[in-house]
Amino acid sequence: MFKGKSLPYRTNLWYTAFIFILSVGLIIMISIAGHMAQRTEAQQNLIRSVERNMDEIEVDDGVLDIESDFAFKNGDVNTVVFSEAGEILAGEYPEGISTDEPLQNGEFRTVDIDGKDYYIYDSIIEYSKYEYKINGVTGDVFSNESEGIDGYTPYEGDLNIKGDGCELTYAEALSIALEDKGISEDSVVLITAKVYEYYDNPLYELEFYSAEKAHEDVWVRGVVRADSADGIWRTITIIAFMLLPLYVAVASFLGYRIAKKSMKPIKELRETANEIQSGQDLSKRIEIDDSDPDIKNLSDSFNNMIGRLDSSFSAQRHFTSDASHELRTPVSVILAECEYQLSEDLDEEVRESIESINKQALSMKNLITQLLSFAKIEQGSHRFEMSEENLSEIVRSVAEDIAKIGTNNIEIICQLQDDITMTMEVSLMARLAENLISNAVRYGKENGFVKVALARQGTDIVFSVEDNGIGIAEGDMDKIWQRFYRVDKAHSREDGCSGLGLAMVKQIAELHGGRVSVESEVGKGSIFTVIFPDGNGQNRI
Ligand code: ADP
Repeated sequence: MFKGKSLPYRTNLWYTAFIFILSVGLIIMISIAGHMAQRTEAQQNLIRSVERNMDEIEVDDGVLDIESDFAFKNGDVNTVVFSEAGEILAGEYPEGISTDEPLQNGEFRTVDIDGKDYYIYDSIIEYSKYEYKINGVTGDVFSNESEGIDGYTPYEGDLNIKGDGCELTYAEALSIALEDKGISEDSVVLITAKVYEYYDNPLYELEFYSAEKAHEDVWVRGVVRADSADGIWRTITIIAFMLLPLYVAVASFLGYRIAKKSMKPIKELRETANEIQSGQDLSKRIEIDDSDPDIKNLSDSFNNMIGRLDSSFSAQRHFTSDASHELRTPVSVILAECEYQLSEDLDEEVRESIESINKQALSMKNLITQLLSFAKIEQGSHRFEMSEENLSEIVRSVAEDIAKIGTNNIEIICQLQDDITMTMEVSLMARLAENLISNAVRYGKENGFVKVALARQGTDIVFSVEDNGIGIAEGDMDKIWQRFYRVDKAHSREDGCSGLGLAMVKQIAELHGGRVSVESEVGKGSIFTVIFPDGNGQNRI
């Protein structure tokens, strides 16, 4: 999946997957947390509803008195009022359900009714509890409707007792309160009795339960569906999941942009390196205006490496060039001497020897010339004089020269479009044509043909040399462009072949912005093609 993909692409794919997983996790977590918070809120709301209703309900003399503020339905909470015996006095359960869940004061619980969870909270109003304040001050006994005395304003249910020299004891206060409520003293369970000093007299605050209830207790029960507000969270979760692709797409897009931006210096680095590689100009250096120290280090290392390569290649080039130059003179002398000797009247055996020396010296001369050309090309394009020339003429002249030397009865057919011109180094372009045509003849078939074609195709100039000779095996097709590679080593050497011809063709073509290719079949022949894409040969010059 990642093969051949750029680093920003791969980074972004990981990042998008990460964002996706993170988002899904986050939505699920938020949904669960929201859901839990909502349930807690529903539980508290239920308790609040019940307790608020407790203040709105009374039983006076056995008659249930529900005030108008009593809410039988508060939001999703339903309130049901029960008698002490567990009979419903008022209100109803939600959704028409019913349950025999026992009443439990102040107990919150979750109850399964008809397969669904309901929250239930009960609270009891205990009418057996009495609260009293008895103010025992000197003076007359007042009923609870009386006006307060000596600055004390009685509250509802309070008793003010005032009499001459009256100073109430606790027992007297209790007995007054019981009498007021008509409860016998034996039935009382006292819970609290607070005594305050009020204008030097005791003020009793009494809370007590009676075994003899004035009337029955009343229960208030709140009921709500546990998942009553779950729907909101379900909707929120669904919407969040629906928006997820959009969100991930936006995050992915932005992530890709950021990754691409951060990779820009690397891209620049790569492009400069490519430029150096394709231009084969090792004198170039990578210059990146980036403050990132890592990138800076990388480009420095790169430049150092290119620097070292440059000096080592240059040393090699100089050696080839110097060695070739030095060899040229002795080879020329050998050839001149051979020529001189061959012009003399010689013994047959001696003549054969000299002819053999002459042949090898010629082959060496050819090799030296090729090596010198390589060295020249590699030293850079500035060493060449480029000019606009007629390629058709050059190819024709090369083909005619080769035909004159003798071609093993091979016919050279020229299909050259006239006046194709391009910017070139004439001697190199002539060498390119010569190497291809002479190869076609050398590896051609006796009485066969060599077709030399040159044409403009769109903006391209296409030069091809075809033969019906021995052909090239599939496995050798890539290697023939390498220096000193010869398919049939033994045989080729006899012909004085160096294995440099095609390497030179490739180098000359590339120097002129062109590219080379070959199609071949063993025993059937080969076709070598050189294409100069923009037709002006100036790409590399
Ligand atoms: P050489 O000096 O040996 O011809 P080249 O570089 O010109 O060196 O060619 C490399 C090898 O490619 C040759 O040894 C030969 O085997 C093969 N070759 C080149 N041209 C042809 C062709 N037209 N047909 C068949 N084989 C070829």
